[in-house]
Amino acid sequence: MKINVDQDACCGAGQCVLLAPEVFGQDDDDRVILLDERPGPELDFAVQEAVSMCPTGVIWVDQNA
Ligand code: SF4
Repeated sequence: MKINVDQDACCGAGQCVLLAPEVFGQDDDDRVILLDERPGPELDFAVQEAVSMCPTGVIWVDQNA
């Protein structure tokens, strides 16, 4: 499993950071930073929540990577 983000399309809402702070951070412009592109299975639920809650849909998970 590999997490991907499109930082250029991020609107900086920060939902992902609230839901999975181990995986997502924000830069000085509030745009998403991927802290861990391959988190452990204990974070699967939090990552899926972040994917579904991201208002711009710029987080996706590649299950085969
Ligand atoms: S939830 Fe989506 S739009 Fe908001 S900071 Fe995270 S990646 Fe960016």
